[in-house]
Amino acid sequence: MDLHATQPQNVAEQRAASMKFTYPSGSRPLEGYTIKRGIGQGGFGEVYYATSDAGKEVALKLIRRNLDVELRGVTQCLNLKHPSLLALYDIKVDERGDSWVIMEYVSGESLEDMLARHPDGMPIDEALSWFHGIAAGVAYLHDRGIVHRDLKPGNIFNDDGQVKIGDYGLSKFISASRRSGQTESVGTVHYMAPEIANGRYGKEIDIYALGIILYELLTGQVPFEGESVGEVLMKHLTAEPDVSRIPEPFRGIVAHTLAKDPQQRVHSVAELVAALPVQPSGFATIPPRRRPDPSLAETTLLAGSPPPATPAPPPPLVHVAVRGETTDDEPILRALREAWQQIRDGWQRANFNTPTKIILCIAGIWLLIYYAKFVVPAVFFGGVAYAGYRGVRWFLITKSGSTAATAAAPLAARPDWPAAPARPTPPAPPGIAPGAPRMVSYSRRERRGRRRDSALRVLPPKSPRERFTELVGSLLLSTAVAGAATLLMLIVQQRDLRADGPEYVWLALTGTLGAWGVLIPAKFWEGRQGDAVLRRFVLLGVGLAFGLLAWEAAQFLNVALLNELKDMPHVAIEAHATHDAEGQPQILGYLAYFGFLFLLVRWWRQADPLRSSRLSLWSAIVCVFWAGVLNAFWQFPQPWGMMAAATISIAVQLSSPWLDPQHRLARAPVAPAGTA
Ligand code: ATP
Ligand code: MG
Repeated sequence: MDLHATQPQNVAEQRAASMKFTYPSGSRPLEGYTIKRGIGQGGFGEVYYATSDAGKEVALKLIRRNLDVELRGVTQCLNLKHPSLLALYDIKVDERGDSWVIMEYVSGESLEDMLARHPDGMPIDEALSWFHGIAAGVAYLHDRGIVHRDLKPGNIFNDDGQVKIGDYGLSKFISASRRSGQTESVGTVHYMAPEIANGRYGKEIDIYALGIILYELLTGQVPFEGESVGEVLMKHLTAEPDVSRIPEPFRGIVAHTLAKDPQQRVHSVAELVAALPVQPSGFATIPPRRRPDPSLAETTLLAGSPPPATPAPPPPLVHVAVRGETTDDEPILRALREAWQQIRDGWQRANFNTPTKIILCIAGIWLLIYYAKFVVPAVFFGGVAYAGYRGVRWFLITKSGSTAATAAAPLAARPDWPAAPARPTPPAPPGIAPGAPRMVSYSRRERRGRRRDSALRVLPPKSPRERFTELVGSLLLSTAVAGAATLLMLIVQQRDLRADGPEYVWLALTGTLGAWGVLIPAKFWEGRQGDAVLRRFVLLGVGLAFGLLAWEAAQFLNVALLNELKDMPHVAIEAHATHDAEGQPQILGYLAYFGFLFLLVRWWRQADPLRSSRLSLWSAIVCVFWAGVLNAFWQFPQPWGMMAAATISIAVQLSSPWLDPQHRLARAPVAPAGTA
């Protein structure tokens, strides 16, 4: 129902990444079920992936209020059974009075995800497979007097090759919660029949939505698009759909299904299905495909052609997710990730205001620096030990061949798969033997890139003049922040201003210069997709220039930075050109230390208006961490090096513009469903 959910999967992913869920992994808000993770949020609630105490995987939909009247609508659907309907298991009310819908969990992708990969429409056989599956489920509902009212690709899934429609029976709920202004969401206007505007409607609205879905399956676009909700609604009411792009025999059927007057429309799902070409297998199944999951190395595998001697039907398109060793399989990293996730959830739930966040950040960083002589060796040696462990583990797994075998084995085709959703096998690229399975993998990085692509679309365009003005503002603000952060560190560390004054002036100055060094190039890169390697090398140059200026500042202020954390581990050569006899870094020491610090950290992300929070403690910790690790190779008086890194990070984050993810959604343009 969400307007924005009609955008490609990337937005769904983007939303999930930026969403705050009420319950973290491991919590048990509902007796008998343990939350594993949040999947997404819709018009009226949150959806979680969870397991029952007996181990059954379920999806839990949290509905914020106990609406007895609306619940009856769902209750009516609890005992429905059809292969194309997502099973509803139960409805329960928790101790707080919130209602939970317990339903079948689908690991496969939604039709929305699928359409995002077919911007020009699906092959007709595949489109027909989807459509027959959907129509079968809707016909079953209509036969029982139930109107779905929220048919849209985001509510339709591919469960291991079987179409599953979700959210039936919930529509009353949705409209009730929206009417009462519980959410800003405006509904999926792209699938809304014109008569919804006058409030009197029946099952014809589902037929209309089916018409839109068919149009979209065949062309990759919805028929009515616009810059605003009002424009799209107006087109539903008045504009004729452009069916010229649709091949016959579908053209006439789609036009008839999208008639403005419900009386003129195709009368029933049965009539609609009867007008379509017959499904060869007689049973609607689609090539199974799992939803993109960050923990999976996703692979599209085109099964090889059979030997040419015996002409055989074209090979089925088989989509599988191949699991290699991922961080989710490795117990130590998984535990660390879960612990970190819980800390983040706690931090987000606490919802501190910005001053509290700053104080907590500084206190955290100060603790880290104060105990650096314990923390850095622990992390350093822990990291080395862990790398060794991963190496041994990798060797053992590779040797036993288990991972390799999993990765190489194509999923066996189910006997009830369709008789080949025919699609010409593309010629094998050079270097790949014809007939050999061809793999097209989407790396995590590519997926992140695609997610960013759509995030970038919500950034308002800025003229060079606007960018310049914004940059000047950020530079001034970063100066103030660096000064304030330095002062805070001085107070927290209970230093004597007279004795250590010049060192702190040096810190404030380098913090400011470093922040400027990040803010200026980041302003050029803002809103643009760029090559991370190139950016790192630009920042290496910035780091070298910064090192030079930091050295000059030290000379000018006549400061001798003392190494107060002598116990930190190091592998650096003791006597070299980077230090003098007393351990004071020379110009080369400054250049090496700060050059690498700027190379190693992706600083521009801390100035990105699309970062997930204005001030991320994690980003600051990462900078301090690298400053500590670098010290092992290029010694620098500590904690000064780490404090400089922290100051730069905080100054950059607090002074660069930030677009709140919540507002981002509100700014997202109405885009045609299924377009990237
Ligand atoms: P609406 O509220 O209008 O249906 P929506 O479909 O975007 O909008 P939800 O139904 O709340 O929102 O679903 C939120 C997310 O959870 C979606 O990304 C959806 O794909 C996913 N989801 C919903 N139900 C299930 C399920 N049973 N199994 C797996 N994922 C699900
Ligand atoms: Mg839904």
